[in-house]
Amino acid sequence: MNIMFYGAAREVTGSCHCVEVGGKKVLVDCGLQQGADNGFGQNFPFHPGEIDSVVITHAHIDHSGRLPLLVKQGFKGRIYATDPTCRLLEIMLRDSAHIQELEVSWRTRKQRRAGDESAQPLYTMADAEKVFPLLVPCGYDEIIDVASGFSIRFTDAGHLLGSAYVEIWLSEGGSKKKVVFSGDIGTPDQPIIRSPGYVTEADIVVMESTYGDRSRSPSFDTASELAKVIERTLVKGGNVVCPSFAIGRTQDLLYHIREIKERGLVPSIPDFPVYLDSPLATAATKIYSGDLLDYLDEKTAALVRAGIEPLSFDGLRIVETGDDSKRLNDDRTPKVIISSSGMCDAGRIRHHLKHNLWRQECAVVFTGFQALGTLGRTLVDGIVPAVTLFGEEIAIQCKIYNFRSMSSHADREGLLKWIDAFETKPETVYVVHGERETCKSFTARLIGEGFRAIAPKYSSIHDLLTGEIVFEGRDLIRREDQPQISRRESAVFQRLMLAGTRLIEVITRNRGGANKDLAKFADQIDSLANKWDK
Ligand SMILES: [Zn+2]
Repeated sequence: MNIMFYGAAREVTGSCHCVEVGGKKVLVDCGLQQGADNGFGQNFPFHPGEIDSVVITHAHIDHSGRLPLLVKQGFKGRIYATDPTCRLLEIMLRDSAHIQELEVSWRTRKQRRAGDESAQPLYTMADAEKVFPLLVPCGYDEIIDVASGFSIRFTDAGHLLGSAYVEIWLSEGGSKKKVVFSGDIGTPDQPIIRSPGYVTEADIVVMESTYGDRSRSPSFDTASELAKVIERTLVKGGNVVCPSFAIGRTQDLLYHIREIKERGLVPSIPDFPVYLDSPLATAATKIYSGDLLDYLDEKTAALVRAGIEPLSFDGLRIVETGDDSKRLNDDRTPKVIISSSGMCDAGRIRHHLKHNLWRQECAVVFTGFQALGTLGRTLVDGIVPAVTLFGEEIAIQCKIYNFRSMSSHADREGLLKWIDAFETKPETVYVVHGERETCKSFTARLIGEGFRAIAPKYSSIHDLLTGEIVFEGRDLIRREDQPQISRRESAVFQRLMLAGTRLIEVITRNRGGANKDLAKFADQIDSLANKWDK
């Protein structure tokens, strides 16, 4: 009975953990790595065909974005997620495939000009389409068998529509353990969806630590604070640009803007125009506006019952095509533009930043976590006077706001409250999904509170019955730590490192085998090592 950490280990993206019981393997989350975390490529250090089932905690791309790659490389099992997560995954993964294809066609043109071979997308739209027939939509609180020896239950995590903690009951022979995966833990302050629930029993916990080193300012009236920024900016003739995660943050923004208009909080220009410029966000907003009463908080459900559309208002305009999006920059009417991606590393938002960052009268409002190495993080940190967009240096002269209170992640106090809800302290708490230092400091905090807490390394293997570390793993090589290696060289080296990781796993699985076989295996590895140890 082992757990292996294949992502979000001492980093904040790429969530991917594997539980192995009685020869069966279940993957919990299968996310893309983003920003600086993506130094090691997106390949798996295991063969996807060996995975029996996948459980997805929520639809965010850093928890789900490698599902098409998993299927492309041979995964044939079922993928379990809540019903809204399954609906969101369909639009999310299609969008992700579209971005992969676009990026590659751009890179290919560039590489061809440099006399290089064509780049390949991580996966295509056709690969993404193969994921959907494997999805099994589940309800909260149902107990579901996902593989022999594995029963699971989803509980509302209050982080995103359909987001969940996953409780997994494991049995192997006479041994039983219960593992709880936190996924991403939400906050009670978020509009639209319900507040996070709590789990009270677990032998082992795997928990996120995104904001494990930070307390957020006490909750404030987001609508009035946002209204102040909008009023101040539009009156000066500027635009308010909101880089926003297409799923979750965008719908929260629309909810607050509807309230701003209803309460008349921008008196100078009460009918100010708001452009929703992200096809994915538009598709997600349609899902949020569907038949979801069972998933809404009381205030939003009351609006729906009263016939009010919570995410719709006068002045909301949907931008359909890329050309329409670019044309927005020629229109001088002061406006609010909501566009993706949320961390500004791709998508239409980059055009809007190019046209607005240099204008003193404009404002950029961030509403979500910005990972290290992304353009969003550079802007929020405010450490550079200019950035390069589409090959052009753009001075940063607009106002930049960071609405941390709108984050959908629990802060340090929220995380501590969540772990304290367990009636008896779990045997071990594995701390994941946090930047390296954050992960370490939150782990130290838990140890200080009397927990056995570990920040596992990438590809480490832990015995769930004994708590023993079977294989230590290693820290991932981050993008900025390997500047001297060319992209192509590093991809091949990454493959080699992953092959090494797989070898360790195979060694682990042979524990308890006949001494004669183990000795033969050791001889073969020694001879291979001698051959290559030049
Ligand atoms: Zn999330």
